Amino acid sequence: MLVFRQLFDPPSSTYTYLLADGDRGAAIIIDPVFEQVRRDAALIEELGLRLVFALETHVHADHVTGAWLLKERMGCRIALAATSGAAGADRYLVQDDVVTFGERNVQIRQTPGHTDGCLSYVLDDRSMAFTGDCLFVRGTGRTDFQQGDPHAMYRSIHEQIFTLPDLCLLYPAHDYRGLTVTSVREERRFNPRLGGEIGEGDFTGYMNNLRLAHPKKLDVAVPANLQCGRPENGVGITTEPDWAALRRRSEPGPTATMDAQT
Ligand code: FE
Repeated sequence: MLVFRQLFDPPSSTYTYLLADGDRGAAIIIDPVFEQVRRDAALIEELGLRLVFALETHVHADHVTGAWLLKERMGCRIALAATSGAAGADRYLVQDDVVTFGERNVQIRQTPGHTDGCLSYVLDDRSMAFTGDCLFVRGTGRTDFQQGDPHAMYRSIHEQIFTLPDLCLLYPAHDYRGLTVTSVREERRFNPRLGGEIGEGDFTGYMNNLRLAHPKKLDVAVPANLQCGRPENGVGITTEPDWAALRRRSEPGPTATMDAQT
């Protein structure tokens, strides 16, 4: 049985994905957010899972990854693209590599364009894929900083994502309008930037004229993420108060309130 959870970080509109082989208890997490590690760790513990890998789709510019902190807390390994330029990972991934969790796995497809080191992760049965900041629901990641290259992105999407089965569900790293999932068939048809008959020239022209403001956290996030989220001084930081043995539940709000509701 596959365990699948889509988690959201409101400040950065980032989706984090938890996948597990429910029978074996082995889990992976894709694109964890530093500030949400406490929530994610509590959920993993509540579900009785063992986190084996924290995976990055790329070096993010808009939030700091929770990979290092999850490794500290849960003993998982960290993996991201060999072309990411990041230090401190346990495994550096290239095209067609496989990351196993229990008897399930995800296969790596290199999908550069947003950054050089962007990866998409495809579930073993090709029923779902995690496209990072390459393909969004009816959109794409931006290509105007961090080695952004609209030509590379166009080819990545057409050659690595649109070649997946029509019904393969696609899960992006972000959505800013509340959409959560799409499919290969939908994006091939309806993506306004590169669906239908839109060619590479039109796509690159559009992407080169977006004129977006840089992400607020760019200056903090990129250096931190080039260390897989390890704090600068290398000293173990804690997000837990150390004055009491608190057990955090994944639900929001004070425990007393929740108990009163049940
Ligand atoms: Fe990004």
